[in-house]
Amino acid sequence: MKNSEGKILLLPGDGIGPEVNKALKDVINSADANTAINIEVEEDLVGGASYDKNNTPLTDDVLKKAVSADAVILGSVGGYQYDNLPFEVKPERALLKLRKELDLYANIRPAKVFDALKDASSLKSDIVEGMDIIVLRELTGGIYFGEPRGIRKLPDGQREGINTEVYTTNEIVRLGKVGFEIAEQRKKIVHSVEKANVMESGILWREEIMKLHNEKYKHIDLSNMYADNCAMQLVKQPKQFDVIITGNLFGDILSDISAELTGSLGMLPSASLGDEVNGKRKALYEPVHGSAPDIAGKNIANPIAMILSFAMFLKLSLKNNKVSELIESSVENVLGKGYRTKDIMQSGKNLVTTSDMGSLISKEIKNLSRSF
Ligand code: NAD
Repeated sequence: MKNSEGKILLLPGDGIGPEVNKALKDVINSADANTAINIEVEEDLVGGASYDKNNTPLTDDVLKKAVSADAVILGSVGGYQYDNLPFEVKPERALLKLRKELDLYANIRPAKVFDALKDASSLKSDIVEGMDIIVLRELTGGIYFGEPRGIRKLPDGQREGINTEVYTTNEIVRLGKVGFEIAEQRKKIVHSVEKANVMESGILWREEIMKLHNEKYKHIDLSNMYADNCAMQLVKQPKQFDVIITGNLFGDILSDISAELTGSLGMLPSASLGDEVNGKRKALYEPVHGSAPDIAGKNIANPIAMILSFAMFLKLSLKNNKVSELIESSVENVLGKGYRTKDIMQSGKNLVTTSDMGSLISKEIKNLSRSF
């Protein structure tokens, strides 16, 4: 009897997207066959692949499917051949449109160091060993969207570039809630990050987060931290962090720093969530990496970020921690047995292809499911 059912829209996209998507389908089939989940999968075009066929990176039909699915899992979009297209039809526009139409305001980027890969980090292994951080970035507000914006000419002939950092109470509180709720299922530590020392939007951010904490989440350990200090602390003592909540601009930078600490771009999943309506949130899951055109079509890309994006879907959308953890453990075991794609290859380990990695993880799911 299946106790967890869901419907996902797979959008493989461009470059290595279709290859890692194929490995993910292996994993979904294995999880379907060996656990109590039942996932209905639909697949369609996005990005350059959609532009090539439909002259648009995202058709209305695909957008409709995205809205009606429990979640979208997207590979990656973009490629050199699309670099000179007009802005409105560039592959990346599909992502922005999906985020906007689904109102995906909470971007969750885990940065976890797998034991088997602790030497891949740019930091000493004892500093990163066991590191497991989530950066929660506000995705639809702040300085990237604030008005006024633009470039204008000044009377003295100079030019002036303007962007505006704006946050409202609602935008801060809805993100804060997601952050505290994630922390509730983890080590219960939240760092809220802004620049309240020099920015009014930062003062409001700090006040609203503290108010929310005081009203509903006093059992969570909350610290306020300035963004510059957070950047420094991330490279000095990353294991002090559990969940970092922050705005769009600081989140963009801090999530890249924490990703780099893991040393393996091909291993990092992400989730973007919208509001909860009738117990369900709109959601899009995707690897952090891009379409990697330099290695596309060679069957050498690492599919683990895509596979872990599915594990995030199981945890955050289906609330099925058990199967999500089964998939994460399968990934860890395969790495523990010494299998590596080229990007994470170390001497003395076994080099495998994208599709091999997909089948190894699928087999491990079958093995582990007997004892889970
Ligand atoms: P990228 O992430 O595609 O690649 C950076 C480097 O990491 C490359 O050397 C690549 O080979 C390697 N790499 C990335 N993913 C890998 C994987 N799974 N396995 C092994 N190696 C991997 O970033 P980029 O080169 O800056 O961008 C390439 C294209 O991707 C551009 O068109 C960019 O706009 C697009 N992009 C898309 C997304 C997205 O779809 N969300 C994100 C970032 C970049």
